[in-house]
Amino acid sequence: MGIGYSLVCRKCGYTRNLFAGCGMMYNEVLREKSEKARRGEYGARLKELFEKYPDGCIDAMNNIYYCKDCRAVECESSLDFYKPKGDERNAEDDIFGPDMNEYELVEKHEHICANCGMPMEEIMRLTDETPVCCPECGELLENGHMLMWD
Ligand SMILES: [Zn+2]
Ligand SMILES: [Zn+2]
Repeated sequence: MGIGYSLVCRKCGYTRNLFAGCGMMYNEVLREKSEKARRGEYGARLKELFEKYPDGCIDAMNNIYYCKDCRAVECESSLDFYKPKGDERNAEDDIFGPDMNEYELVEKHEHICANCGMPMEEIMRLTDETPVCCPECGELLENGHMLMWD
């Protein structure tokens, strides 16, 4: 289940649809992204964490990231790294997906803006107060309608 946001610029008409959360294929997505992370495709740090905590897992939920420097908005998997609270992971996690209550956060993944190389900020929830500006003209973007997906 995911929530989509539609961002609208009243000044120049720019619109952007973003989808946060996860879809019904979450377990599949998670498996695929975990494999990539283990291989180091998301950077050396995640690879290192998987080597240190082989039972760990990543959060593949989509989040919205915003670059204050160049106003880029991206929707990406969080890739925060978790490890089991106990000694080992529950075997059922492989079938049903990890129960995040049984895991604890080890490290948050730093999202770097592909556009300018600055760290991006995670936006938990788009509200009227969220200062996300239009990449085209710099005007404050407004929340359009919410979209539900999956
Ligand atoms: Zn605009
Ligand atoms: Zn940027």
